[in-house]
Amino acid sequence: MMKYIEHAEEIFNLLKEELSNILTPIIAREKWGKIAHTPFNTLISCILSLRTKDQVTEKASIRLLKKYNTPEKIVQLPEKELQNLIYPVGFYKTKARRIKELSRELIENYNGQVPNDFEELLKFNGIGRKTANIVMLYGHKKKGFLPIDTHCHRIPNRLGWINTKTPEHTEKELKKILPEKYWDDFNHLFVKFGQTICLPVSPFCSRCPIKKYCNQISVIKKR
Ligand code: SF4
Repeated sequence: MMKYIEHAEEIFNLLKEELSNILTPIIAREKWGKIAHTPFNTLISCILSLRTKDQVTEKASIRLLKKYNTPEKIVQLPEKELQNLIYPVGFYKTKARRIKELSRELIENYNGQVPNDFEELLKFNGIGRKTANIVMLYGHKKKGFLPIDTHCHRIPNRLGWINTKTPEHTEKELKKILPEKYWDDFNHLFVKFGQTICLPVSPFCSRCPIKKYCNQISVIKKR
């Protein structure tokens, strides 16, 4: 295992430059237009984003949160209406139920606030490490968190930085070899990179800005 990732500075700079015109997913964006970027809004948007395209998540988040942006307002909202507001996000019926349950739990046990504590967040049904990391990093704006989704798991393995089987293991291993100054940018940069160039099947290696630093581990088909 390497001590620290080699050429991290060049790699992060090249990715930032290459992806500067690609829209950052709403969860990671600093400004949300007229909607306040609160921990609650981050949490709800993150739930909406699971198995859903970014553009659909964004529109659904805005429709819901421009009016219903607190647990108190969500519990007053009939479930059917909530479903209509978030449709067509994946599993919208299940998510509507979950959002209402979560809002109730927050009011009953946390004074209507999203806990500013990673371990506390993990106690909620349906909140895993990825969501908890996202809420801490983008919602509470805390340092030291590394949300790992499918892109953030796949790409460091292809590069040859790590050799892991699960996102949880990736988080643990990356924290050892990626200096902390890169953690804030890692998630949103690698998500954008994975959506546009280093695709899950047949990545665009021929036009990849960091090709010379990549070992292309387990890349069978490429363009
Ligand atoms: S060279 Fe190919 S596999 Fe490696 S990071 Fe670039 S696109 Fe991904």
